[in-house]
Amino acid sequence: MKKIVDKLEKDRILSDEEFKTLLTTDDEEVISYLQERARAVREKVYGKDVFVRGLIEFTNYCKNGCLYCGINCRNTKIERYRLTKEQIVECSDLGYSLGFRTFVLQGGEDPYYTDEIIVDIVKTLKSLHPDCAVTLSIGEKSRESYEAYYNAGADRYLLRHETITDEHYRKLHPSEMSLGNRVRCLNDLKDIGYQVGCGFMVGSPYQTLDNIVSDLKFIREFEPDMCGIGPFIPHEDTVFKDEPSGTVDMTTRLLAIIRLLLPDVLLPSTTALGTIDPLGREKGLKAGANVVMPNLSPTDVRDKYKLYDNKICTGDEAAECIKCLTGRVRRSGYEIAVSRGDHIKVNNL
Ligand code: SAH
Repeated sequence: MKKIVDKLEKDRILSDEEFKTLLTTDDEEVISYLQERARAVREKVYGKDVFVRGLIEFTNYCKNGCLYCGINCRNTKIERYRLTKEQIVECSDLGYSLGFRTFVLQGGEDPYYTDEIIVDIVKTLKSLHPDCAVTLSIGEKSRESYEAYYNAGADRYLLRHETITDEHYRKLHPSEMSLGNRVRCLNDLKDIGYQVGCGFMVGSPYQTLDNIVSDLKFIREFEPDMCGIGPFIPHEDTVFKDEPSGTVDMTTRLLAIIRLLLPDVLLPSTTALGTIDPLGREKGLKAGANVVMPNLSPTDVRDKYKLYDNKICTGDEAAECIKCLTGRVRRSGYEIAVSRGDHIKVNNL
Protein backbone atom coordinates (compact mmCIF):
# COMPACT_ATOMS: atom_id res chain seq x y z
CA MET A 1 0.00 0.00 0.00
CA LYS A 2 3.03 2.28 0.26
CA LYS A 3 2.71 2.39 -3.52
CA ILE A 4 -0.28 4.69 -3.17
CA VAL A 5 1.90 7.16 -1.27
CA ASP A 6 4.59 6.96 -3.97
CA LYS A 7 1.95 7.47 -6.63
CA LEU A 8 0.58 10.50 -4.78
CA GLU A 9 4.07 12.01 -4.52
CA LYS A 10 4.79 11.39 -8.20
CA ASP A 11 1.46 12.24 -9.82
CA ARG A 12 0.19 14.71 -7.19
CA ILE A 13 -3.27 13.20 -7.53
CA LEU A 14 -5.04 9.90 -6.75
CA SER A 15 -8.30 8.24 -7.71
CA ASP A 16 -11.21 8.66 -5.31
CA GLU A 17 -10.77 5.08 -4.14
CA GLU A 18 -7.05 5.57 -3.48
CA PHE A 19 -7.71 8.73 -1.49
CA LYS A 20 -10.25 6.84 0.59
CA THR A 21 -7.80 4.01 1.19
CA LEU A 22 -5.19 6.45 2.50
CA LEU A 23 -7.75 8.21 4.67
CA THR A 24 -9.08 5.03 6.26
CA THR A 25 -6.22 2.57 6.45
CA ASP A 26 -5.15 1.50 9.92
CA ASP A 27 -1.79 0.29 8.65
CA GLU A 28 0.57 2.33 10.84
CA GLU A 29 3.49 1.77 8.50
CA VAL A 30 1.65 3.37 5.62
CA ILE A 31 0.57 6.32 7.74
CA SER A 32 4.10 6.99 8.96
CA TYR A 33 5.45 6.58 5.43
CA LEU A 34 2.91 9.13 4.21
CA GLN A 35 4.12 11.62 6.81
CA GLU A 36 7.76 10.85 6.11
CA ARG A 37 7.29 11.63 2.41
CA ALA A 38 5.32 14.78 3.24
CA ARG A 39 8.19 15.95 5.46
CA ALA A 40 10.76 15.16 2.78
CA VAL A 41 8.85 17.15 0.17
CA ARG A 42 8.34 20.06 2.55
CA GLU A 43 12.06 20.11 3.33
CA LYS A 44 12.96 20.05 -0.35
CA VAL A 45 10.96 23.25 -0.88
CA TYR A 46 11.24 25.13 2.42
CA GLY A 47 14.14 23.43 4.20
CA LYS A 48 13.74 23.47 7.97
CA ASP A 49 12.06 26.88 8.04
CA VAL A 50 8.76 27.39 9.82
CA PHE A 51 7.04 30.70 9.09
CA VAL A 52 5.17 32.61 11.77
CA ARG A 53 2.12 34.75 11.23
CA GLY A 54 1.02 37.14 13.94
CA LEU A 55 -2.71 36.76 14.28
CA ILE A 56 -4.59 39.90 15.27
CA GLU A 57 -8.20 39.04 16.06
CA PHE A 58 -9.56 42.54 15.75
CA THR A 59 -13.32 42.04 16.06
CA ASN A 60 -15.65 39.29 17.23
CA TYR A 61 -18.76 41.00 15.87
CA CYS A 62 -20.16 39.05 12.94
CA LYS A 63 -23.21 39.43 10.74
CA ASN A 64 -23.17 35.77 9.73
CA GLY A 65 -24.76 32.80 11.41
CA CYS A 66 -22.32 29.98 10.55
CA LEU A 67 -23.69 27.12 12.63
CA TYR A 68 -20.30 25.84 13.84
CA CYS A 69 -18.78 29.15 14.88
CA GLY A 70 -18.79 30.51 18.44
CA ILE A 71 -18.86 34.17 17.38
CA ASN A 72 -21.82 33.76 15.02
CA CYS A 73 -24.44 36.52 15.20
CA ARG A 74 -26.96 34.35 17.03
CA ASN A 75 -24.75 33.87 20.05
CA THR A 76 -26.12 36.35 22.57
CA LYS A 77 -23.93 35.05 25.39
CA ILE A 78 -20.59 36.42 24.31
CA GLU A 79 -19.23 39.83 25.03
CA ARG A 80 -18.38 41.55 21.75
CA TYR A 81 -15.31 43.74 21.18
CA ARG A 82 -13.63 45.75 18.47
CA LEU A 83 -10.02 46.93 18.34
CA THR A 84 -9.22 50.48 17.27
CA LYS A 85 -6.67 51.20 14.60
CA GLU A 86 -4.30 52.34 17.35
CA GLN A 87 -4.68 49.02 19.19
CA ILE A 88 -4.06 47.10 15.96
CA VAL A 89 -0.95 49.17 15.30
CA GLU A 90 0.27 48.48 18.84
CA CYS A 91 -0.14 44.73 18.28
CA SER A 92 1.85 44.97 15.05
CA ASP A 93 4.65 46.99 16.70
CA LEU A 94 4.94 44.44 19.46
CA GLY A 95 4.85 41.64 16.87
CA TYR A 96 7.54 43.32 14.80
CA SER A 97 9.85 43.55 17.79
CA LEU A 98 9.29 39.84 18.42
CA GLY A 99 10.32 38.93 14.86
CA PHE A 100 6.98 38.71 13.08
CA ARG A 101 7.04 39.77 9.43
CA THR A 102 3.44 38.84 8.59
CA PHE A 103 0.34 40.16 10.29
CA VAL A 104 -2.98 38.45 9.81
CA LEU A 105 -6.01 40.61 10.49
CA GLN A 106 -8.83 38.22 11.25
CA GLY A 107 -12.34 38.89 12.40
CA GLY A 108 -16.00 38.21 12.05
CA GLU A 109 -17.78 39.91 9.16
CA ASP A 110 -18.26 43.19 10.96
CA PRO A 111 -19.91 45.98 8.93
CA TYR A 112 -18.50 48.55 11.37
CA TYR A 113 -15.19 48.20 9.53
CA THR A 114 -16.12 49.79 6.22
CA ASP A 115 -13.83 49.43 3.22
CA GLU A 116 -12.50 52.87 4.00
CA ILE A 117 -11.49 51.81 7.52
CA ILE A 118 -9.89 48.56 6.34
CA VAL A 119 -8.00 50.41 3.61
CA ASP A 120 -6.75 52.91 6.17
CA ILE A 121 -5.60 50.14 8.54
CA VAL A 122 -3.83 48.24 5.75
CA LYS A 123 -2.08 51.38 4.48
CA THR A 124 -0.99 52.30 7.99
CA LEU A 125 0.45 48.84 8.72
CA LYS A 126 2.24 48.75 5.38
CA SER A 127 3.75 52.19 5.86
CA LEU A 128 4.90 51.45 9.41
CA HIS A 129 6.31 48.04 8.50
CA PRO A 130 7.13 48.07 4.77
CA ASP A 131 9.06 44.81 5.05
CA CYS A 132 5.99 42.94 6.36
CA ALA A 133 3.15 41.15 4.62
CA VAL A 134 -0.42 41.95 5.58
CA THR A 135 -2.94 39.13 5.34
CA LEU A 136 -6.67 39.70 5.61
CA SER A 137 -9.17 37.13 6.84
CA ILE A 138 -12.44 39.04 7.02
CA GLY A 139 -14.80 36.93 4.99
CA GLU A 140 -16.89 37.38 1.88
CA LYS A 141 -16.78 40.79 0.18
CA SER A 142 -17.43 42.22 -3.26
CA ARG A 143 -14.71 42.15 -5.89
CA GLU A 144 -14.49 45.94 -5.60
CA SER A 145 -13.78 45.71 -1.88
CA TYR A 146 -11.10 43.08 -2.41
CA GLU A 147 -9.54 45.32 -5.07
CA ALA A 148 -9.53 48.29 -2.73
CA TYR A 149 -7.73 46.34 0.02
CA TYR A 150 -5.23 44.99 -2.51
CA ASN A 151 -4.51 48.44 -3.87
CA ALA A 152 -3.97 49.61 -0.29
CA GLY A 153 -1.20 47.03 0.02
CA ALA A 154 -2.79 43.83 1.37
CA ASP A 155 -0.71 40.89 0.19
CA ARG A 156 -2.66 37.78 1.15
CA TYR A 157 -6.21 36.68 1.93
CA LEU A 158 -7.44 33.69 3.90
CA LEU A 159 -10.93 32.44 3.15
CA ARG A 160 -11.54 28.79 3.89
CA HIS A 161 -14.01 27.28 1.42
CA GLU A 162 -15.23 25.12 4.41
CA THR A 163 -16.56 22.32 2.12
CA ILE A 164 -16.84 22.10 -1.65
CA THR A 165 -20.02 19.99 -1.51
CA ASP A 166 -23.09 22.16 -1.84
CA GLU A 167 -25.36 19.93 0.25
CA HIS A 168 -22.78 19.85 3.07
CA TYR A 169 -22.21 23.60 2.81
CA ARG A 170 -25.92 24.18 3.37
CA LYS A 171 -25.89 22.06 6.52
CA LEU A 172 -23.16 24.24 8.05
CA HIS A 173 -24.42 27.68 7.01
CA PRO A 174 -27.62 29.70 7.12
CA SER A 175 -29.65 29.96 3.92
CA GLU A 176 -28.40 33.49 3.18
CA MET A 177 -24.91 32.08 2.56
CA SER A 178 -23.92 30.04 -0.48
CA LEU A 179 -20.99 27.97 -1.66
CA GLY A 180 -21.31 29.74 -5.01
CA ASN A 181 -20.48 33.09 -3.47
CA ARG A 182 -17.64 31.62 -1.41
CA VAL A 183 -16.03 30.21 -4.56
CA ARG A 184 -16.69 33.47 -6.42
CA CYS A 185 -14.76 35.26 -3.67
CA LEU A 186 -11.83 32.83 -3.92
CA ASN A 187 -11.66 33.23 -7.70
CA ASP A 188 -11.81 37.03 -7.46
CA LEU A 189 -9.07 37.09 -4.83
CA LYS A 190 -6.78 34.98 -6.98
CA ASP A 191 -7.55 36.96 -10.09
CA ILE A 192 -6.78 40.25 -8.34
CA GLY A 193 -3.33 38.97 -7.40
CA TYR A 194 -3.52 38.05 -3.73
CA GLN A 195 -1.73 35.03 -2.34
CA VAL A 196 -4.88 33.11 -1.42
CA GLY A 197 -5.67 30.52 1.23
CA CYS A 198 -8.62 28.16 1.20
CA GLY A 199 -9.27 25.20 3.50
CA PHE A 200 -11.74 23.33 5.64
CA MET A 201 -12.47 21.89 9.05
CA VAL A 202 -11.69 18.23 9.61
CA GLY A 203 -14.60 16.32 11.12
CA SER A 204 -17.17 19.09 10.76
CA PRO A 205 -20.74 17.90 11.39
CA TYR A 206 -22.21 15.79 8.52
CA GLN A 207 -18.82 15.58 6.77
CA THR A 208 -18.43 12.34 4.81
CA LEU A 209 -15.36 10.69 3.32
CA ASP A 210 -16.69 11.63 -0.11
CA ASN A 211 -16.88 15.26 0.97
CA ILE A 212 -13.23 15.15 2.02
CA VAL A 213 -12.16 13.57 -1.27
CA SER A 214 -14.00 16.35 -3.13
CA ASP A 215 -12.23 18.94 -0.96
CA LEU A 216 -8.86 17.40 -1.80
CA LYS A 217 -9.61 17.46 -5.51
CA PHE A 218 -10.81 21.05 -5.27
CA ILE A 219 -7.61 22.07 -3.45
CA ARG A 220 -5.46 20.40 -6.09
CA GLU A 221 -7.34 22.14 -8.86
CA PHE A 222 -7.62 25.58 -7.24
CA GLU A 223 -3.94 25.52 -6.25
CA PRO A 224 -4.13 27.92 -3.32
CA ASP A 225 -0.93 29.52 -1.99
CA MET A 226 -2.00 28.63 1.56
CA CYS A 227 -4.29 25.94 2.90
CA GLY A 228 -5.84 26.03 6.38
CA ILE A 229 -6.84 22.66 7.77
CA GLY A 230 -7.82 22.16 11.40
CA PRO A 231 -10.14 19.95 13.40
CA PHE A 232 -13.70 21.07 14.01
CA ILE A 233 -14.22 21.64 17.75
CA PRO A 234 -17.71 22.22 19.17
CA HIS A 235 -18.64 25.49 20.87
CA GLU A 236 -21.01 25.25 23.82
CA ASP A 237 -23.32 28.01 22.61
CA THR A 238 -23.90 26.68 19.10
CA VAL A 239 -26.32 24.07 17.72
CA PHE A 240 -23.33 21.77 17.21
CA LYS A 241 -22.39 21.81 20.89
CA ASP A 242 -22.79 18.04 21.27
CA GLU A 243 -21.02 17.07 18.05
CA PRO A 244 -17.65 15.32 18.33
CA SER A 245 -14.39 17.10 17.48
CA GLY A 246 -12.29 16.18 14.48
CA THR A 247 -9.30 13.96 15.26
CA VAL A 248 -5.56 14.48 15.28
CA ASP A 249 -5.11 11.37 13.18
CA MET A 250 -7.39 12.54 10.38
CA THR A 251 -6.01 16.09 10.48
CA THR A 252 -2.37 14.98 10.22
CA ARG A 253 -3.16 12.52 7.43
CA LEU A 254 -4.84 15.32 5.52
CA LEU A 255 -1.95 17.71 6.13
CA ALA A 256 0.44 15.11 4.71
CA ILE A 257 -1.79 14.40 1.71
CA ILE A 258 -2.17 18.12 0.95
CA ARG A 259 1.61 18.58 1.18
CA LEU A 260 2.01 15.88 -1.48
CA LEU A 261 -0.80 17.29 -3.64
CA LEU A 262 0.74 20.79 -3.56
CA PRO A 263 4.44 20.48 -2.58
CA ASP A 264 5.01 24.22 -2.19
CA VAL A 265 1.79 25.19 -0.40
CA LEU A 266 2.01 27.14 2.86
CA LEU A 267 0.38 24.86 5.39
CA PRO A 268 -0.33 25.93 8.96
CA SER A 269 -0.29 23.67 11.96
CA THR A 270 -3.32 25.29 13.57
CA THR A 271 -4.29 26.42 17.04
CA ALA A 272 -7.31 24.10 16.79
CA LEU A 273 -4.93 21.15 16.34
CA GLY A 274 -3.04 22.31 19.43
CA THR A 275 -6.33 22.54 21.29
CA ILE A 276 -7.43 18.92 20.82
CA ASP A 277 -3.96 17.56 21.63
CA PRO A 278 -1.23 19.23 23.72
CA LEU A 279 1.29 18.11 21.10
CA GLY A 280 -1.04 18.70 18.16
CA ARG A 281 0.98 21.46 16.54
CA GLU A 282 4.18 19.41 16.77
CA LYS A 283 2.35 16.51 15.12
CA GLY A 284 1.14 18.85 12.38
CA LEU A 285 4.69 20.06 11.71
CA LYS A 286 5.89 16.48 11.50
CA ALA A 287 3.15 15.75 8.96
CA GLY A 288 4.29 18.44 6.52
CA ALA A 289 2.94 21.71 7.93
CA ASN A 290 5.34 24.68 7.74
CA VAL A 291 3.48 27.63 9.27
CA VAL A 292 2.36 28.55 12.80
CA MET A 293 0.05 31.42 13.66
CA PRO A 294 0.52 32.61 17.23
CA ASN A 295 -1.89 35.10 18.68
CA LEU A 296 -0.90 38.77 18.85
CA SER A 297 -4.26 40.07 20.05
CA PRO A 298 -4.27 42.04 23.31
CA THR A 299 -4.59 39.62 26.25
CA ASP A 300 -7.80 41.20 27.54
CA VAL A 301 -9.75 40.32 24.38
CA ARG A 302 -8.22 36.91 23.66
CA ASP A 303 -10.81 34.82 25.45
CA LYS A 304 -13.61 36.68 23.69
CA TYR A 305 -12.50 35.51 20.24
CA LYS A 306 -13.67 31.99 20.87
CA LEU A 307 -14.66 30.15 17.73
CA TYR A 308 -14.68 26.87 19.70
CA ASP A 309 -14.36 25.62 23.29
CA ASN A 310 -11.09 25.28 25.26
CA LYS A 311 -9.04 27.39 22.84
CA ILE A 312 -5.42 27.41 23.96
CA CYS A 313 -3.06 30.34 24.62
CA THR A 314 -5.82 32.80 25.55
CA GLY A 315 -3.99 33.90 28.70
CA ASP A 316 -0.47 34.28 27.35
CA GLU A 317 1.31 37.46 26.40
CA ALA A 318 2.54 37.52 22.79
CA ALA A 319 6.15 37.23 23.93
CA GLU A 320 5.37 34.08 25.91
CA CYS A 321 3.50 32.64 22.93
CA ILE A 322 6.41 33.03 20.57
CA LYS A 323 8.83 31.64 23.14
CA CYS A 324 6.65 28.59 23.72
CA LEU A 325 6.15 28.05 19.99
CA THR A 326 9.86 28.46 19.22
CA GLY A 327 10.50 25.56 21.62
CA ARG A 328 7.77 23.46 20.07
CA VAL A 329 9.08 24.10 16.56
CA ARG A 330 12.67 23.23 17.61
CA ARG A 331 11.59 20.05 19.31
CA SER A 332 9.86 19.08 16.08
CA GLY A 333 13.18 19.42 14.24
CA TYR A 334 12.52 22.80 12.62
CA GLU A 335 13.45 26.49 13.10
CA ILE A 336 11.34 29.61 13.12
CA ALA A 337 12.35 31.96 10.31
CA VAL A 338 12.24 35.73 10.69
CA SER A 339 10.92 36.55 7.22
CA ARG A 340 7.71 37.28 5.36
CA GLY A 341 7.58 33.63 4.35
CA ASP A 342 6.04 34.14 0.94
CA HIS A 343 4.78 31.31 -1.15
CA ILE A 344 7.56 29.77 -3.26
CA LYS A 345 6.35 28.45 -6.58
CA VAL A 346 8.13 25.27 -7.54
CA ASN A 347 7.53 23.84 -10.98
CA ASN A 348 9.71 20.76 -10.84
CA LEU A 349 10.89 18.98 -7.77
N1 SAH B 1 -14.93 35.56 9.26
C1 SAH B 1 -13.74 35.06 8.63
C2 SAH B 1 -12.84 34.36 9.61
C3 SAH B 1 -13.45 33.11 10.12
S1 SAH B 1 -12.67 32.35 11.47
C4 SAH B 1 -14.13 34.16 7.48
O1 SAH B 1 -15.32 33.92 7.28
O2 SAH B 1 -13.27 33.74 6.74
C5 SAH B 1 -11.52 31.31 10.65
C6 SAH B 1 -11.89 29.85 10.51
O3 SAH B 1 -12.12 29.24 11.76
C7 SAH B 1 -13.17 29.54 9.75
O4 SAH B 1 -12.97 29.65 8.38
C8 SAH B 1 -13.49 28.12 10.20
O5 SAH B 1 -13.01 27.14 9.29
C9 SAH B 1 -12.75 28.01 11.54
N2 SAH B 1 -13.72 27.71 12.63
C10 SAH B 1 -14.86 28.36 12.93
N3 SAH B 1 -15.52 27.72 13.91
C11 SAH B 1 -14.78 26.63 14.24
C12 SAH B 1 -14.96 25.55 15.15
N4 SAH B 1 -16.03 25.45 15.92
N5 SAH B 1 -13.98 24.61 15.21
C13 SAH B 1 -12.89 24.70 14.44
N6 SAH B 1 -12.68 25.68 13.53
C14 SAH B 1 -13.63 26.64 13.43
